[in-house]
Amino acid sequence: MKRAIFPGSFDPITLGHYDIIQRGLSLFDELVIAIGENAEKRYMFSLEERIRFISEAFAGEPRIRVMSYTGLTVDFCKKVEAGFILRGLRNPGDFEFEKAIAHTNRKLSEIETVFLLTASGKSYISSSIVRDVIRNGGDFTGLVPDTVRVSKS
Ligand code: ADP
Repeated sequence: MKRAIFPGSFDPITLGHYDIIQRGLSLFDELVIAIGENAEKRYMFSLEERIRFISEAFAGEPRIRVMSYTGLTVDFCKKVEAGFILRGLRNPGDFEFEKAIAHTNRKLSEIETVFLLTASGKSYISSSIVRDVIRNGGDFTGLVPDTVRVSKS
């Protein structure tokens, strides 16, 4: 049984994440979407909303679980008995950043990081751009799964 975690903030999940998750399912038996909670970070969407958007987007896919975690990613991997970390790469900036983290995680554990290249046409999508579009009242629906909803307040 090959189990991987796909860690991130998912604030909110985008079609870029969605694509990596779907393709990850062809590599692994089970994927745990791991929402990292950092007390110093301010999020646009609550943890409950972020979990709901992902769970609803993959409703009916029993090989996907959505969980949140705090602390070291490698410790969370051990907790859920995952041998792999899945990450997406969009550009050279992602590569440099991810390389340092993957090397560090290898130093701390036996866990391997597996990278998938972003799908062509999705490399420009990021949660931060989606948040900017939302903040400024733009149409964000083509960038995220249709389970992402913005409540009017
Ligand atoms: P983090 O704060 O850890 O970067 P994100 O939620 O922004 O969390 O991203 C989680 C993972 O998804 C990262 O590996 C990131 O590179 C990947 N990712 C984000 N957007 C895309 C995209 N458009 N195409 C491919 N991978 C992506």
